[in-house]
Amino acid sequence: MEKIKNIPTKIYISEEELPKKWYNLRADMKEKHDPFLNPETLEEVTKEDLTKVFCEELIEQELNQTDPYIDIPQGILDFYKMYRPSPLVRAYYLERYLDTPAEIYYKFEGNNTSGSHKLNSAVAQAYYAKKQGLTHLTTETGAGQWGTALAMACAFFGLDLDVFMVKVSSEQKPFRKELMRTYGARVTPSPSNKTNAGRAILKANPGTGGSLGCAISEAIEVATHNKNSRYVLGSVLDYVALHQSVIGIETQIALDKYGITPDIIIGCAGGGSNLSGLIAPFMGDKIKGKNDIRFIAVEPKSCPSLTRGKYAYDFGDAGKTTPLMRMYTLGCGFMPAPNHAGGLRYHGMSPLISKLYHDGYMEAIAVSQNEVFDYAVKFARTEGILPAPESAHAIYAAVQEALKCKEKKEKKVIVLGLTGTGYFDMTAYKQFNDKKLVNYDPIDEDLEKGFATIPDIPQNR
Ligand SMILES: *Cc1c(COP(=O)(O)O)cnc(C)c1O
Repeated sequence: MEKIKNIPTKIYISEEELPKKWYNLRADMKEKHDPFLNPETLEEVTKEDLTKVFCEELIEQELNQTDPYIDIPQGILDFYKMYRPSPLVRAYYLERYLDTPAEIYYKFEGNNTSGSHKLNSAVAQAYYAKKQGLTHLTTETGAGQWGTALAMACAFFGLDLDVFMVKVSSEQKPFRKELMRTYGARVTPSPSNKTNAGRAILKANPGTGGSLGCAISEAIEVATHNKNSRYVLGSVLDYVALHQSVIGIETQIALDKYGITPDIIIGCAGGGSNLSGLIAPFMGDKIKGKNDIRFIAVEPKSCPSLTRGKYAYDFGDAGKTTPLMRMYTLGCGFMPAPNHAGGLRYHGMSPLISKLYHDGYMEAIAVSQNEVFDYAVKFARTEGILPAPESAHAIYAAVQEALKCKEKKEKKVIVLGLTGTGYFDMTAYKQFNDKKLVNYDPIDEDLEKGFATIPDIPQNR
């Protein structure tokens, strides 16, 4: 097959070209998302409210709405050099398979041992914790990628780590757990009886497979009971989006090198971190009127926060311990079906992505898991990479757009975030290969149960 415009299959940028600053998209947003609220006072959260839970420097970043660029400290740049830049790959073989005139590119973040983009923020968070003199971190993990990324980062910076892993995932993915332990983390299936939050949830739902919201409550409880410990979060928050902007900046540099202008940028959306990172510089330009790119968030039909959720103030966790955030949410008590294998199980969506979506800057679609795995397998067979099921949501949407191009004989440039690899998702792939994977698309009554857990406070402020 001929290669068009001499575009290499893998577009790398050099070590010298690696971004030295993160991009804080929020600084360029015309309207900011609503502030976090203290759930007791319903006033805006203060730094003091947050310091018991989060590292100081990360709070500064979280509350920074004014500086568009923030220097990446040398210690983090040094770590990034171990696995970055990540390649931007032209999906020549997928294009040929689809017989589409569209150009498809994927930014591949699965090129590190943790297997996903999450390492970009894990390293930053461990670095700042170390700098603050902390010795211990706690977190939750769902599918296990975040826990693994943080375990790698904590091993590097010499920090102790407690990971609360959603129980169903820890059962489905015993090797994920072992990988985290190999990097020195202590892993506890959640809900556990180590915490008040875990015990309460176990009492209310005995056989529960757990949820991210519940694991978050447990991790926060442990962190706040230990003065040298803090809680770190791998998605949802603005500081995570900030760190992940390294994905989008590298993508922009690589595309610019070959004069490629994207028409559509697509990312899967769980808590929204890879998506906000991938789109950040492009969205900043769109807000400034410099491009007219379509941005598409792709979520699972079984956990459809953007496409079917409410835009409301809600807690970030099932135990109702976090500040209130205004976001698209299914309700902090929402539990996705236990047979849902495709990841992206969080009940809410980052306030940043929620705001962009609410204001019409981006679109969202929801996909059933069989469709997702169908394209995960097609992608593996054409492009060679075994995608994480989460990433396959973005593949699915990119394929739909590429097929539309075929129908209309249009050449569009589609960029998608291939957030990670699926080596630890073989139970799910097995179910799919055995044709035993069931779609679970909640009906309205199912969602109503979740909505009933959204706190009853004045929503319009
Ligand atoms: C965690 C994860 C996601 C979803 O998280 P976001 O915060 O929405 O990016 C997507 N893909 C992979 C591989 C992940 O590990």
